[in-house]
Amino acid sequence: MPTATGHKTIYEEALEAGLTRRDFLKLASAITLALGLDLKEMPKVVRAMETKERVPVIWLEFQSCSGCGESFIRSMQPRMEKVLFDLISLEYTELIMAGAGSAAEEHRRKIMAEYPGKYVLVVEGSVSAPEYLFIGGHSAYDILRETAEKAMAVISFGSCSSWGGIPAAKPNPTGAKAVADLVKGKPVIRVPGCPPIAEVMTNTIAHIVVFGQLPELDELGRPKEFFRHRLHDKCQRRAYFDAGLFAETFDDEGARQGYCLYKLGCRGPTTYNACAELRWNGGLSWPVQSGHPCIGCSEPDFWDQGPFYERLAMIPGTQTTVNPEKVGAILTGVVVAGIAAHATATVVLRGRIAKHEKAETAAKEE
Ligand code: SF4
Ligand code: SF4
Repeated sequence: MPTATGHKTIYEEALEAGLTRRDFLKLASAITLALGLDLKEMPKVVRAMETKERVPVIWLEFQSCSGCGESFIRSMQPRMEKVLFDLISLEYTELIMAGAGSAAEEHRRKIMAEYPGKYVLVVEGSVSAPEYLFIGGHSAYDILRETAEKAMAVISFGSCSSWGGIPAAKPNPTGAKAVADLVKGKPVIRVPGCPPIAEVMTNTIAHIVVFGQLPELDELGRPKEFFRHRLHDKCQRRAYFDAGLFAETFDDEGARQGYCLYKLGCRGPTTYNACAELRWNGGLSWPVQSGHPCIGCSEPDFWDQGPFYERLAMIPGTQTTVNPEKVGAILTGVVVAGIAAHATATVVLRGRIAKHEKAETAAKEE
């Protein structure tokens, strides 16, 4: 039966696209699991898909490298094409839409007029000061304000959109800003990462479609389900950190043994993301598992927190070992809200860092 607005339901569209009832139920079970729900909850997902229409999505791209969109396309669970064709109606996206120019801009405005308060706006990339970036003769700033005004929700996809990212790195020549700094009176969901994990994005959209509401967010506006843990607390190298076993270089015996990458600059102790749990490429691996330290790409201003290959207990650029308590204070200043919420874990970490520093100094003195 059509929805109250006369549009076809997700289920009807799926059948029209050639899916059988069995295919549809398989998709519903995949979405149920992807949402982190028990399969007992699947009837809720089926019911939502049988009664709701696909959610129109407008995807704007501003100061970005398109890496976030590329990451989204590689979503494995639920597969991007399933999200794309069965749950949402991707109406405007510069990366993969066939239309261009004034026809594309007209279509964007048509969707905004037809679905006021019902479409989701996804923004990739940071927003420059009004005098820099123009699309179709309009500034990025004006396009954002116009499109966000009647959106049901705004999703900042990627660190540039969430925090300003690389375009906002010092000296921020274009005056780049995060979307949440410019959109007021509207929920802005931050899905940071450079790029973000595609499954976090597809699951966030799936949540909005199935439950008709935003997922639970943390104090920085990130979906709690995916950003509640520090990578350090879920890392498979953590036992080596606790045992004081570290790789000193990328090709030493410690690296070969899979020791902790903290001394090679790993930002896992101060980074909140789902890399260690969801992993990348369909759960295959993640950077730390593959031997590269986390660079904290999902944290605010990560690009200015380098050099990336120096450990956290050093002031960046000085090669000077400092009191870990002071480093903790610096980090707290950088990611104040996120770290404050996890103060207990940070205090424990400081203690451990101090312990390792002490042991190392003692070893050097011997
Ligand atoms: S410092 Fe990095 S490599 Fe070491 S345990 Fe923490 S997250 Fe894992
Ligand atoms: S491991 Fe760290 S740097 Fe790498 S993607 Fe995850 S949060 Fe970003």
